[in-house]
Amino acid sequence: MIEVRGLTKRYPGRTVLRNAVDGIDLDVPEGKLVTLLGPSGCGKTTTLRLIAGLEKPDDGRISIGGTLMCAPSEGVYVGVHHRPIGVVFQSYAVWPHMTAVQNVMFPLRSGQKKLPKPEARRRAMEALEMVGLAEYADRPAPALSGGQQQRISLARALTREPEVLLLDEPLSNLDAGLRDRVRDEIRAVQQRLGITTVFVTHDQDEALAVSDEVIVMDHGRIVERGLAQDIYAWPREEFTARFMGISNSLPGTVTSADRDMAEIDLAHGRLRCLASGTPAVGSRVNVFIRPESLVLSRKDPSGRGWKGTVEFSIYHGDCWDYHVRVGDTLLRSRMYREKIGLAHGDPVFVVPEQETAIAITE
Ligand code: ADP
Ligand code: MG
Repeated sequence: MIEVRGLTKRYPGRTVLRNAVDGIDLDVPEGKLVTLLGPSGCGKTTTLRLIAGLEKPDDGRISIGGTLMCAPSEGVYVGVHHRPIGVVFQSYAVWPHMTAVQNVMFPLRSGQKKLPKPEARRRAMEALEMVGLAEYADRPAPALSGGQQQRISLARALTREPEVLLLDEPLSNLDAGLRDRVRDEIRAVQQRLGITTVFVTHDQDEALAVSDEVIVMDHGRIVERGLAQDIYAWPREEFTARFMGISNSLPGTVTSADRDMAEIDLAHGRLRCLASGTPAVGSRVNVFIRPESLVLSRKDPSGRGWKGTVEFSIYHGDCWDYHVRVGDTLLRSRMYREKIGLAHGDPVFVVPEQETAIAITE
């Protein structure tokens, strides 16, 4: 549905080495929600604004639904109002002197289409229905919660009957408690309408929760893309592993490799685990292990444990995080079930669950 090739954007007068968007290719299949995920400044908003037609690229091509929207080399540029898109930004841009339904109607009454009032109201009510706000239609906008206001901007984007929905960090301005609910509602509306969506966020949990596919970005480029569950469980790139919060990283050397599995010599022992690609024997890798895959135990009947010392622990309600020193390395272990009652200085064994570790070539 969306096809982007070689998209490049430079901002004039900037002394940075890289382009804001640096030759990216991406495809968003019809009816899917694809997330652009990456740290602040990596080019997510610029990419979205280029797809929306709010910015002009220096190079590349963008098609939506098979129609070319822009291609500087061919002199093609379709303006934002002529693209089949709806856009929602972080700031919900709700007009305070209007009711909910007036907010949604406004663009229909003032744009180039200028629908008659009853028709505009009908369309606005339909959109409010879609986001579950029909009963609030005649409330003044300031009387609505932040989450409801954000759903008004979603309704406003939907009244254009867009082929594509573009959402730029739509949850960032909401309180933590509300964020999950609005996130779920956005995903519910998207799946119910089957609308092709690009969702921008810097929050990995949010990305996993809403996405069919995740595109990881850094410095204006795509690092990797994949199904949400693959990006989480089996990142191919070190940047992704770190960004997805796999906080334990151990250097090692490959002693044998076979397709997706490798055997790694680490400072503390040997490990057989997943590998990205088939790393060459003798090559250096970093082994990434999630805290929940490092199990702590006072004894080591399996003989696979690494001997360490507890530094400190942090309580999260549903789990404990233990920071354990093993040799020169500080490892993080997350224990969900019981508090094993370890304190600073206690000796402990760290037992890695090998099947969930991932070796990535340096
Ligand atoms: P993100 O949304 O991932 O945080 P942006 O797309 O906003 O990233 O920005 C990408 C890069 O482009 C950043 O280095 C940013 O400072 C720069 N940039 C964004 N917008 C402008 C602008 N209007 N003028 C100059 N530089 C900009
Ligand atoms: Mg941004």
